[in-house]
Amino acid sequence: MEFIEALKLKSKLLFLFILITLGLVIIVILGYINTASVKKNLDTIYFGSLVPIVELNNILQVYHGKISNTIYKVKSSQISRGQASIEIKDAITKVALEWKEYETHFKRDDELQYVEYAAIEIQATNDFFNKMAFDISLDSLVMESFEARVEHIHNVLKKLINYEIELAKYERKRFLTLYDKIILNIGIILALTVFGVLIISYYVFKSIQKDQTRLEIATKKLQNANKKLENVSYTDVLTSLHNRRYFNFVYDRELKRAKRTKSYITFMMMDIDYFKQYNDTYGHIEGDFALKSVAKVLKETLQRPSDFVFRLGGEEFGAILTDVDESNSASLAEEICQSIKRREIKHETSKAGEFLTISIGVVCCKADENLDNDILMIRADEMLYKAKENGRDRCEITTSVVVAKVHLCHYLLLKT
Ligand code: GH3
Ligand code: MG
Ligand code: MG
Repeated sequence: MEFIEALKLKSKLLFLFILITLGLVIIVILGYINTASVKKNLDTIYFGSLVPIVELNNILQVYHGKISNTIYKVKSSQISRGQASIEIKDAITKVALEWKEYETHFKRDDELQYVEYAAIEIQATNDFFNKMAFDISLDSLVMESFEARVEHIHNVLKKLINYEIELAKYERKRFLTLYDKIILNIGIILALTVFGVLIISYYVFKSIQKDQTRLEIATKKLQNANKKLENVSYTDVLTSLHNRRYFNFVYDRELKRAKRTKSYITFMMMDIDYFKQYNDTYGHIEGDFALKSVAKVLKETLQRPSDFVFRLGGEEFGAILTDVDESNSASLAEEICQSIKRREIKHETSKAGEFLTISIGVVCCKADENLDNDILMIRADEMLYKAKENGRDRCEITTSVVVAKVHLCHYLLLKT
């Protein structure tokens, strides 16, 4: 059944459909052939035996009833000779018609000879009665030969009737045997077809199931690959933090959510102090290590599922916190500054101290529908600028979301 597996789903179903149709067609053809033979058999019994028996009985009836009665009636003077003559002629015509009808039915070879003999005898009997109809002498000699004639034709016809009865019995037996054979044949074909369909269906469905499993596995792999691709496109390679692209997406999403639920939202903008000097002093590779260390501190400090940390570009980082009020936001920002300092990353050329430090601008507010979409970035940037101006290695926080003095240079960088 390997060839079934090689087929495509559509072809598998088509194959099954063709098989079922073929089985049904065979059953219908067989049924038709067998029904036709049943019909022929019934016809043979009916027209070959039963109808002839009725016709022969009718002829007997005419001889016994009609003609004999007429003769006895005229003998006992119940009817006139003229009347009797008419009745006998009518009866003979009826016999002739009935016999003609009988002869038209199908006859077997072994029957034909006797039928011919019976025809001659009937003709002779009719001739005898015809003669009688013209001359009803009623003497004892004529009466005797009349009774002998009736007796003789009775025997001839009775033999024919018995033959037809035997034949009917034989045909019935044949019909019953044939009927049983037909039922058996149809049963066998039906069982074979059902069995075949079951077997093929089993293989077809098994192979469909296999295809399905293969498809599910492939889909799962594709989903995982997509997820990985998505993660890669949202991750900063150096620090493994979320990148700028993901920041744009999360910023919009979380701002909308905070506006809808009228809850706290905090945005932090962070920038390493004198990082150009750090690179100049220790080299770019060391600079990269320093960036990774800062990223690690940020990740460790902002751990809640609702905290999002990003590398926005160069030595600048961002964080979005939800449902954190201003005092907690300030504590967290302070904690970040302290933790980075505690790392004691040597920075000889820094004017802010002997170790690497960071400045943070924080904005924290309760959002509502009036909150401008860009204001958090503008205010955080202003606060960062303030922290730098006030000597670096610190954080500056505001809860006001009104634009103060326009200072957009840094912010504009962030927007690009
Ligand atoms: P300030 O205290 O005012 O922030 O001064 P700064 O020197 O940190 O700021 P500035 O913007 O002048 O310099 C930022 C430096 O960060 C310049 C660039 O060489 C460095 N930098 C940016 N991206 C990377 C990076 O991926 N790796 C390394 N090693 N250095 C980077
Ligand atoms: Mg900078
Ligand atoms: Mg800097």
